[in-house]
Amino acid sequence: MSDLRSLYQEIILDHNKNPRNFGLMGDANRVIEGYNPLCGDRYTIYLKLHEDIIEDIRFSGAGCAISKASASVMTTVLKGKSIKDAEALFERFHTLVTKESKGFEDAESLGKLAAFAGVSEFPARVKCAILAWHSMKGALRSNTKSVSTE
Ligand code: ZN
Repeated sequence: MSDLRSLYQEIILDHNKNPRNFGLMGDANRVIEGYNPLCGDRYTIYLKLHEDIIEDIRFSGAGCAISKASASVMTTVLKGKSIKDAEALFERFHTLVTKESKGFEDAESLGKLAAFAGVSEFPARVKCAILAWHSMKGALRSNTKSVSTE
């Protein structure tokens, strides 16, 4: 278990240091801002939707390591997915970071997203981990311009 923990920690450190799909997107057709006032995390999520497929997804902004790594991993996972798959993954990720009892055993099938299983032990960080996901979901649903975790 401690090996798994350190692997997960490495994934988070790596994505915080070298965030994937980071930067502006000129031809996005959905843009949404997400803000977590508890921690000060603030990101913009850019989506290029073609019919019901996420053709491209990027993010910009700043915040703590957990929030940035979470946004980065999310973009790598969601690119090419359908809206339906993205919403299903949102539910699974939400469960992963909020349900203490589940934690690691349920996590394996989630791939890199499983790196955030440990967040459930730190309730104050759950909003950091989920911010980009809430924003993404808001962007899928409508033309909402911003979401806040509060
Ligand atoms: Zn944070």
